[in-house]
Amino acid sequence: MPWSPEKMPSAELQTGSIDWPQEDARLTALAATEILDTEPEPSFDAITRLSAAYFHADTVLLGFADASRIWIKSYWGEAVRELPRSRSIFEMVLAEDGPVVVPDISKHPDFEGGRMTLRRLDVASFASAPVRSSCGRILGALTIFGCQPRRAMALDELRMLESLADMAASQLELRQLRNSMAAPGVRQTRIEGEIPEKWPREADLRHALEQREFVLYYQPEVDLATLRIVGLEALIRWSHPQRGLVQPMDFIPIAEECGLILPIGDWGLSEVCKQIKRWCVDNPTLQSLRVCVNLSARQFARAGLADHVEALLRQSDVSGRQLGLEMTESSLIPNMGTALEVLGSLRRLGVSLLMDDFGTGYSSLSYLHSFPLDVLKIDRSFVGRMTEGEQPLQIVRTIIELARVLGMDVVAEGIETREQYHLLRDLGCRFGQGFLFARPLPVETVNVLLRLPGCVLPDPGAGMALSA
Ligand code: C2E
Ligand code: MG
Ligand code: MG
Repeated sequence: MPWSPEKMPSAELQTGSIDWPQEDARLTALAATEILDTEPEPSFDAITRLSAAYFHADTVLLGFADASRIWIKSYWGEAVRELPRSRSIFEMVLAEDGPVVVPDISKHPDFEGGRMTLRRLDVASFASAPVRSSCGRILGALTIFGCQPRRAMALDELRMLESLADMAASQLELRQLRNSMAAPGVRQTRIEGEIPEKWPREADLRHALEQREFVLYYQPEVDLATLRIVGLEALIRWSHPQRGLVQPMDFIPIAEECGLILPIGDWGLSEVCKQIKRWCVDNPTLQSLRVCVNLSARQFARAGLADHVEALLRQSDVSGRQLGLEMTESSLIPNMGTALEVLGSLRRLGVSLLMDDFGTGYSSLSYLHSFPLDVLKIDRSFVGRMTEGEQPLQIVRTIIELARVLGMDVVAEGIETREQYHLLRDLGCRFGQGFLFARPLPVETVNVLLRLPGCVLPDPGAGMALSA
């Protein structure tokens, strides 16, 4: 039932009015999220912190409730670990099927003595909004508490509380999707008795480096409104004399494991800087083009990264604004302090910082807030499933909204169909890349595209996707 302003003040503890068959369905939906008995997750902390700041609240709780108790997933301000469910605010939210606001508990008949004690915190007022599953069931509640009575909530404040609760719901969905994608059934199973061929070995990679067998392909990144190429992503390939063009996923993880990713990455960075210079010499109007390079976790963790990038930019006479560095969440999280420092130094060079494959890792709101990132790249697994159902679509919508709130640009990866393209545009996503527009291409083909008037790609309508 949607919330209506007339319902808001009628916060009575009507636990008797809970519809038990509905409640069973709710508990089933909750069980599917696997949220109850898990470690706290930082994304939920970010939501309680944001709520506390917005509402000047003394405590904020985000909890999910099973039949008997509320499992606190984040609290701000007080160490409340666990709450019994019966006669709780959660029961009120459930009975009301929506938000509950009690601005002054002293006037409320359900709170004896006009106060409510929440483990060492005397509460005088609260407002609570439900966290709902994609099918609309109440799974939990985001509640803000005040030690003083407060005025009744204005409509826009209540909307804000509800949208913060929706953010928690989206985080829950992202989490579920990640879990389902990591399920063992998704992985390729090895045929019994088959011994996997271990290729390449370190020596093969070393040989390839010496023989200069690595090449860079470039995939255009376009402005979705105009189809103008605004950037390029450099993607490595191995041109193997016998095996042909080897894709990065077949050798980058091994290079990463044995450490050869460092010299391979150095080669890639330096090659990209030289290529940027070549493009700009050929056509000075291309100075606004940003060419992005993928950085592996090891490259990111190596001391002196910013100095190295600065030296390369200087040697090739390229401005930092023309270079972008893409990294994944897993590169940044293990050592957040160092990551912040390194990102700060890179930023000072004018280099753009892009969070690659967003949604597949921790997807933590809290670090997104603290890291100076310019662009969020929505992982192609979400884009690919967007038209399959409400949940992946909602996730993409949330990521776009999240980026907007944080002042970041969004690039959707892996756009393959016109339907995805139009949906993304309608959702307010400005930039995208994908096979629909162009595959990763060798330099010679990119040169042709960069000579198109205004660098505008042809409309992909008639199946004209550009391939190498
Ligand atoms: P990534 O950085 O997320 O790159 C995007 C990947 O998505 C590329 O795969 C690209 O070819 C692919 N892609 C783009 N559009 C579409 C589409 O519409 N449909 C589908 N199915 N795929 C699309 P690629 O080139 O195989 O690269 C895979 C990954 O390898 C990259 O993912 C990146 O993590 C890594 N990688 C590539 N080049 C380098 C490099 O120079 N250094 C490092 N450290 N990693 C690299
Ligand atoms: Mg990338
Ligand atoms: Mg990616």
